[in-house]
Amino acid sequence: MTETPRTKLEFSLSLYPDPVLRRPAVAIDHFDEGLRATVSAMFERMRASSGVGLAAPQVGLGLRILVLNATGRPEDDLALINVTILERSGPLTVFEEGCLSFPEIYAEVKRPERCKVKYCDLEGRQFEREFEGFESRIVQHEYDHLEGVLLVDRMSPADKTRHRAALAELVERFKTRASSKVAR
Ligand SMILES: [Zn+2]
Repeated sequence: MTETPRTKLEFSLSLYPDPVLRRPAVAIDHFDEGLRATVSAMFERMRASSGVGLAAPQVGLGLRILVLNATGRPEDDLALINVTILERSGPLTVFEEGCLSFPEIYAEVKRPERCKVKYCDLEGRQFEREFEGFESRIVQHEYDHLEGVLLVDRMSPADKTRHRAALAELVERFKTRASSKVAR
């Protein structure tokens, strides 16, 4: 993996409980240079944060864009525009998920093993594709972001209790940042 200089990143991460994370994202209707630049900046942000997936609301954009890379190999970069999950199937599996919008919080989440999606590529061409295993896990997690659904909503009551202090701290930090912005 290549090193990305942290100082030149275009996007910063929106952290819980930023309200942008709760708004359902809207579809892209222009497949232009601006979209390509956004997607490329999202990949950069994802790599710099050592993530395997990122949804546009996590960088403050209410758009139906998600990017992922399950292996770290550049050829496995995948950008899904206007993605819809058509079908989820297979057994429910449990996996410990993290989220760039919830730093240092990990929780076990149950999801079906496979999902089938339709999406557009950067040129606006439509595709259908089936995912399984880790990629399916990432797609389903990032898809949640487009619907305003967050890791905290998927946590078991036990995990919510376990992470109560960390979640409260994120809320405090958000309030502090918001009020310092107003003060300026
Ligand atoms: Zn996430």
